[in-house]
Amino acid sequence: MTQHTPQHSAAFTCILNPARIVFGAGKRGDVAAELDRLGVTRALVLSTSFQKADADALAETLGDKAAGVFANATMHTPVEVTETAMSAYVAAGADGVIALGGGSTIGLGKAIAYRNDCPQLVVATTYAGSEVTPILGQTENGVKTTVRAASILPETVIYDPELTLGLPVGMSVTSGLNAMAHAVEGVYAQDRNPIASMMAIEGVRALRDALPVIAKTPADAVARGDALYGAWLCGTVLGAVGMALHHKLCHVLGGSFDLPHAETHSVMLPHTAAYNAGAAKEALQPLADLFGGDLGVGLWQFAKDLGAPMSLRDLGLEETDLDRAADIAVKNPYWNPRPVERDATRALLGRAWEGAPPESGT
Ligand code: NAD
Repeated sequence: MTQHTPQHSAAFTCILNPARIVFGAGKRGDVAAELDRLGVTRALVLSTSFQKADADALAETLGDKAAGVFANATMHTPVEVTETAMSAYVAAGADGVIALGGGSTIGLGKAIAYRNDCPQLVVATTYAGSEVTPILGQTENGVKTTVRAASILPETVIYDPELTLGLPVGMSVTSGLNAMAHAVEGVYAQDRNPIASMMAIEGVRALRDALPVIAKTPADAVARGDALYGAWLCGTVLGAVGMALHHKLCHVLGGSFDLPHAETHSVMLPHTAAYNAGAAKEALQPLADLFGGDLGVGLWQFAKDLGAPMSLRDLGLEETDLDRAADIAVKNPYWNPRPVERDATRALLGRAWEGAPPESGT
């Protein structure tokens, strides 16, 4: 293990988002009390169609505090769905929303709050982290735009690990790697700060320890709690500092080539970590130490051992799309510790497409 000398002298600005976090097994039982704290008397319960039964059950326990259930949340927050949900919100006389689910459902709640500034309570059931960010991605006519605003940040988040016991192993692994990606980019962010970096390292550690247990024993309550705790930390990092090449490439692959969100993060992370390993060596060292010294290669082996998808080819990307993906990615790059070069980015995408190991970063 490398010894790290903390550098407290570096200048930084730190903003942590002012959300109320309620964490623990069984805490979904606190939804009614948390609505009271927010001053919400009638909440519209949101979910995907897949989680409708859970949303109905939650609405049932809330009685008059539930204004109804809208169970049509969809990936990428299409504006048409938001408009239908807004009509349901108004028709039901709601004065707040509860999003029960992952990033897709949370996105719908954010889209409603962005339009009417209503209070949002999220009951988060994946590791994607959207619940603790003031960021909304929405799509209209096939074009995805991202907005950031104070009204988008959910006021209260309930993390109840019992609600994640049924998250399928495949989704748990890719969603966990999606969370880790926020942390990896967080430690080398241009606007990084010591608190976000501590959260990032602890979040990755928690997920590194929990995911192999979940892969073997999906209903392990302790591992589920640790994974959700790690996801909260990593999501908080996403909400606190800027993201770089990894998130840019995933946005390109999701937005222009329709690849699935968590799986794409999962395939790309070892390769983007390797790309930046030399340029952000010191910042990444504590994370590299968690994976045997070489972050890219260590993450790649970790994902492989957990049965994660390993190639963009398996996610449906055509080899002929790689040049265009590289072109789009380098056109308006996010700030990145290593310059984003066209040929190096194309080579990285090529390895990720094949499912080859990343270049060694040590
Ligand atoms: P998701 O919300 O699309 O969920 C995938 C599927 O799993 C859905 O059918 C969902 O109902 C189901 N599911 C969720 N939790 C479950 C559980 N505990 N048990 C069983 N099934 C469950 O997936 P996601 O990866 O959480 O979110 C992806 C979306 O979120 C993308 O559109 C992405 O852009 C967005 N996102 C946004 C931010 C942000 O800060 N704005 C951050 C992360 C992700």
